[in-house]
Amino acid sequence: MRRWNGWGDDTVTYPLSDAAALFLEEAVGSATPPHDATLDEVVASVPESRLPPHSLVDTDLAQRVRHARGQSLPDWIAMRSGRIPAFPDGVAYPSTDAQVRGLIDYATSVGARLIPYGGGTSVVGHVNVLPSDAPVLTVDLSRLNRLRRFDEVSHLAAFGAGILGPDLEAQLRARGFTLGHFPQSFDLSTLGGWIVTRSVGQQSLGYGRIKRLFAGGRMESPAGTLVLPLFPASAAGPDLREAVLGSEGRLGILTEATVRVTPLPECEEFRAAFFPNFEQGRAAVREIVQARVPLSMLRLSTAVETETTLAMAGHERVIRLLKRLMAVRGIGAQRCMLLLGATGTEALVRFAREEALALVRKHGGVHVGRTFGHEWRKNRFRSAYLRNSLWEAGYALDTLETATQWSNIPAMIDDIEMALRHGLEDVGERVLVFTHLSHMYPRGSSIYTTYLYRIPADGDADETLRRWHVLKTAASQAIVAIGGTITHQHGIGTDHLSYLPAEKGVLGMATLRDLCRRFDPSGVMNPGKLIDVTDNTSHGA
Ligand SMILES: Cc1cc2nc3c(=O)[nH]c(=O)nc-3n(C[C@H](O)[C@H](O)[C@H](O)COP(=O)(O)OP(=O)(O)OC[C@H]3O[C@@H](n4cnc5c(N)ncnc54)[C@H](O)[C@@H]3O)c2cc1C
Repeated sequence: MRRWNGWGDDTVTYPLSDAAALFLEEAVGSATPPHDATLDEVVASVPESRLPPHSLVDTDLAQRVRHARGQSLPDWIAMRSGRIPAFPDGVAYPSTDAQVRGLIDYATSVGARLIPYGGGTSVVGHVNVLPSDAPVLTVDLSRLNRLRRFDEVSHLAAFGAGILGPDLEAQLRARGFTLGHFPQSFDLSTLGGWIVTRSVGQQSLGYGRIKRLFAGGRMESPAGTLVLPLFPASAAGPDLREAVLGSEGRLGILTEATVRVTPLPECEEFRAAFFPNFEQGRAAVREIVQARVPLSMLRLSTAVETETTLAMAGHERVIRLLKRLMAVRGIGAQRCMLLLGATGTEALVRFAREEALALVRKHGGVHVGRTFGHEWRKNRFRSAYLRNSLWEAGYALDTLETATQWSNIPAMIDDIEMALRHGLEDVGERVLVFTHLSHMYPRGSSIYTTYLYRIPADGDADETLRRWHVLKTAASQAIVAIGGTITHQHGIGTDHLSYLPAEKGVLGMATLRDLCRRFDPSGVMNPGKLIDVTDNTSHGA
């Protein structure tokens, strides 16, 4: 069964090895496991539902708890401490588009707010219930999960938008196809969630972001139904798919999405190489993407991330051997790991491998074969479970991400890492910070930073949250100051809302507000996320 206060299925664990525990102790100090509230305790705190009865609305208390929060660190702090300020008043599970339409009309007529809920894997507060005088209905889309049409000639597949990643891929694989969209949250996130948060999969270099894969669909909104046709290309004015992508449940509920699929690859491989330092690795990956070498994945870790990954992997003997081998080749403590993936026909994979490895060698990198790539592939979704073990050992972990042009990357990484590393000096705490580049473009790259700090020894949830807030604010301000986007893939939700004006400007914000009002005149859809429609000021724009 799915964990109610952490990541994933409760039968799956990813324990911390002794070596990993020691590494963390040395990095930030020994930690104290916090006390977690039980589901029963939280259920006992849920108030009575304020929603009038409806045949599709379930007011079961446990379901209301399970849909109250997503997967951000503040969400974890709330769930683990049991201090959740607001719950949905009911949860509905529509199984047809007509039922979705009916629920939007119901919410509008009873003055309720409606939160669309895909897999609930948001890490920026998208699905959270905010305290409000109006009742809140969460619409869980998990029953809109069918393959509706499949056009083998055009490579198009239409799905109910609530379908989970593994179910979508299973349906396609049975027909010899794949979507190729694999965010790390793949097991629990949905097609509709991917589209409205502009998500990015691990093999975006080959398959593209969800934006490229989304061909069209159907969205039910308070103002009516929006149908997005499947033209392969069109010059008929602005593309309305762009309004749906990134709409974060503010405009309506995407009930159906058609995606561009690809025949299953003949072969796929993941390899690793090590560079003497990050600068050389960065020069290599930039040249690889600018030369448009047809790889499906590139992921370059900083020295600290490389060291952390090796320590967490738990294969101490192999790692010792690797370090000795690297030292012989002149690669020491500043070593940085690069993972490379190639996907397609055998000829294409061979070509991509040879071209990429030649550039790796040119920049001083050493190719170490397929072992690390194979391990990465095996654990690509499982590693998310490590967060449960870290929390239970007393460590809070969060990630943040941005994207900027290549010339800005070194300064951006320095500024983000510096802001985080020194962020808790006021309370004498150290922060472990590390970064990788994983979605690369000819003109720039995403930057993905992970940070870890100790939960206070007395388990104080307010102080854990305060520490997160201090770190998140410092890093977000650094991102905006140096000209990065506030988010490359996670979206805006509540946590990035105040930084949006810096990116969109005054006219851009006014346009987005008008769009929300056009689709949702009475403010029913997911209020308080993405954009504050009542706020007409410019904020730093
Ligand atoms: C461990 C972990 C790893 C992650 N890895 C990645 C990653 O590699 N790449 C990445 O891009 N993101 C990643 N994420 C973030 C998250 O998984 C994505 O944002 C994902 O797209 C959310 O999908 P979901 O179905 O869970 O949506 P939810 O979290 O349920 O909802 C997100 C938003 O979409 C809205 N929504 C959902 N479905 C619909 C619909 N059908 N119609 C209208 N609105 C809808 C909701 O109202 C909400 O505003 C990760 C998260 C976690 C916890």
